[in-house]
Amino acid sequence: MKVTKDKVFYSFCGDNEPVLTVDAPATVEFETMDCFGNQLRSKDDVMEALDWDRINPATGPVYVNGAEPGDALKVTINKITLNEKGTVCCLKDEGTLGDRVEGYHVRIVPVSDGTVHYEADNGFRTDIPIRPMIGVIGVAPDDGQDINTGTPGRHGGNMDNTMAEEGATLYFPVAVHGALFGFGDLHAVMGDGEIGVSGLEIPADVEVTIDVVKGKAPQYPVLENENEIAVIVSKETVDEAAKTATELMQEFIAERTDLDLPDIVMLMSLVGNLEFCQIVDPEKTVRFVFPKKYIPGLTF
Ligand code: CA
Ligand code: ZN
Repeated sequence: MKVTKDKVFYSFCGDNEPVLTVDAPATVEFETMDCFGNQLRSKDDVMEALDWDRINPATGPVYVNGAEPGDALKVTINKITLNEKGTVCCLKDEGTLGDRVEGYHVRIVPVSDGTVHYEADNGFRTDIPIRPMIGVIGVAPDDGQDINTGTPGRHGGNMDNTMAEEGATLYFPVAVHGALFGFGDLHAVMGDGEIGVSGLEIPADVEVTIDVVKGKAPQYPVLENENEIAVIVSKETVDEAAKTATELMQEFIAERTDLDLPDIVMLMSLVGNLEFCQIVDPEKTVRFVFPKKYIPGLTF
């Protein structure tokens, strides 16, 4: 099954018309556009000409039979195939250093053999290994809410989490019948924080496996990979997001072990990591990451 890149939406909402209906578990390939709607793909494309109504397209949404409010939607990222070039930009008043930037700047950057070949304006070159990841991924929020694809939240959305890569499994709280899942905004590489407001934005084909875990909706998205569990929280400030992510990880461990609160706190303090996803979107996103090996059997 495949969802093509002409099937996109720009806000996560329970009213969106599904473009595909699947029975879980289902393995589906998604074609995705970059966060600019593929409008900045050559040196001749200028930011002034951008149609801002086509920013942050997410491919989908997919209706998952049997996914009901209160369930978790389980999505495993099987394979990410990147286009041969990506786009990075910075612009005035956007991102952590936006107050120091004049105008806007765009680089079209080739990607080949697992490497990002960056060339600066003055000819300086440096090679960066790819770390492909999904920026925007999620489900429809609670009934009545309509959250643009540039904003993260409990439903997922624009979390820009570098851990959303091949081999990772994400769990989202299903809020509407069928979940209405979709994603886009792939990055060939991005640093934690995404301080300049852009990763290496790139079209990609992505294969995922979608499943339902009955009655296990997490409060905020949870990510699990081979070695770690992460709770991903978006709030108006980094401080609020950090506090909630830490609380939710403590509860996650408490629900799955016989450990008392002081030991959970101490273990989280010893080996847990509070990390930035992004600090430049309308809501800031952090993750609390716990290495599974220190509590054998710890899993979603
Ligand atoms: Ca993004
Ligand atoms: Zn992006």
